[in-house]
Amino acid sequence: MKKISLNVFKNGADHVLTFSYDDGKINDIRLAELFLKYNCKGTFNLNSSNIGKDGYISKEQVKKLSDSGMEIAVHAVTHPWLETLPDSVVFAEIFNDRIALEEMTGKVINGMAYPFGTFSDKVKSIAKSAGIDYARTTKSDFTMIPSDFLEWATTCHHKNLGAFIDKFDAVKWRGYIIYVWGHSYEFNTEEDWQTFEDNIKFFTNKPDYWYATNGEIYEYVTAQRSLKFSADLTKVYNPSAISVYIKVDDVKKEILPGLNIL
Ligand SMILES: [Zn+2]
Repeated sequence: MKKISLNVFKNGADHVLTFSYDDGKINDIRLAELFLKYNCKGTFNLNSSNIGKDGYISKEQVKKLSDSGMEIAVHAVTHPWLETLPDSVVFAEIFNDRIALEEMTGKVINGMAYPFGTFSDKVKSIAKSAGIDYARTTKSDFTMIPSDFLEWATTCHHKNLGAFIDKFDAVKWRGYIIYVWGHSYEFNTEEDWQTFEDNIKFFTNKPDYWYATNGEIYEYVTAQRSLKFSADLTKVYNPSAISVYIKVDDVKKEILPGLNIL
């Protein structure tokens, strides 16, 4: 019997690095430029009622971020404590944010970060009904691939990235997600920016890394989890539209859409 493992990312990468930034303040533009400089990708979670206000990015900048490969995602229309609202308002906060952001980007938006990181079981299920497939919390210290993408926990806030690097074990943590979150307005000084840049350099320009948005990771992992293996593990059917990678007897193998012989 073959030995099968799903412990591998796009193009056979052992690690994936992703970023998630909230609220859409103007520093997001500089942050996105930094991500592009290092071929990284981030997800920007936006409140559509703030876009274009003083200190916030504009509609045109949202479109530019999206066109540059960054992901735009929902953060509710007005940044409320969702779990305190009537169900219909929770739905409207999420659904109307999707509508506004989809109009600005021309893309399908199915990701979110909970405002203040808070949620309840009911908020989760309403988010799902409003078309959200994955939603970030502010829980930290997690590198596991989430079993429930509507409770996606992070690895660390960017202010703790240095401490995370100090304990990082590249061999032990193969197949895990490095997920950094924060707010670009927390970079107040040139030194703050420099510290962050120095930290992300630790993970960038590495061949065994995949640099992805939250949404790309969701899409990949969902496709990988949907693989149907024959009982004797000699065949696998990939019902998704994208290639995924697995390990067969410890060797990485691309699994194309459709039927694959192992
Ligand atoms: Zn926020």
